[in-house]
Amino acid sequence: MYSVKEAFYTLQGEGGQAGRASVFCRFTGCNLWSGRERDRATAACTFCDTDFLGTDGQNGGRFDKAEALAAHLTALWPDHDGVATPYVVFTGGEPLLQLDEALIVAMHRQGFEVAVETNGTIMPPPGIDWLCVSPKGASELAVTGGDEIKLVYPQQDAAPERFQRLDFRHFFLQPMDSAPLGKRENHMSATVAYCLAHPQWRLSLQTHKIAGFD
Ligand code: SF4
Repeated sequence: MYSVKEAFYTLQGEGGQAGRASVFCRFTGCNLWSGRERDRATAACTFCDTDFLGTDGQNGGRFDKAEALAAHLTALWPDHDGVATPYVVFTGGEPLLQLDEALIVAMHRQGFEVAVETNGTIMPPPGIDWLCVSPKGASELAVTGGDEIKLVYPQQDAAPERFQRLDFRHFFLQPMDSAPLGKRENHMSATVAYCLAHPQWRLSLQTHKIAGFD
């Protein structure tokens, strides 16, 4: 059984695949926060800005079988000229609480490349085409390699130095957005300064917020 909060067609906003047309599948639930405000202060991840509770979002629902969810997601990919490879991004919440090999195989059968955005605390199943790890606070990483690491900056207990020797192809630093406005601007300039001083890291912006799409 898969629980999906919402699913929609958009452009990937962040990281190395920014700008790419994508079907997003947001799974319900996370292992680093309950999703309830009363638990936020004591959670392992305290700055989440995503609603991942329930199945009541756009195209959300419960799906018994991998094939059923794969068909549901495939229907969201527009029937263009068939030139572009369809692309699905599994996110959450924490997608690796639910994503399994059967669903990856089912998406591949539908012709999709499969991307995952995880907090890195759970080992992924095989077959993922683009693995993005976004570490949160002091949480211990189980996944120490992949296509990109996308670190929200600054974070207490998650300084970039902790991750700089891990086995990723791309290292992205993204200014923390979930803060009062004055602080947000500070985060942007601190992130730019860090990338200038540490060229291993590239700036990642949330282009969906800049361009005004979800
Ligand atoms: S790990 Fe991701 S989904 Fe979970 S609480 Fe943190 S930001 Fe939200």
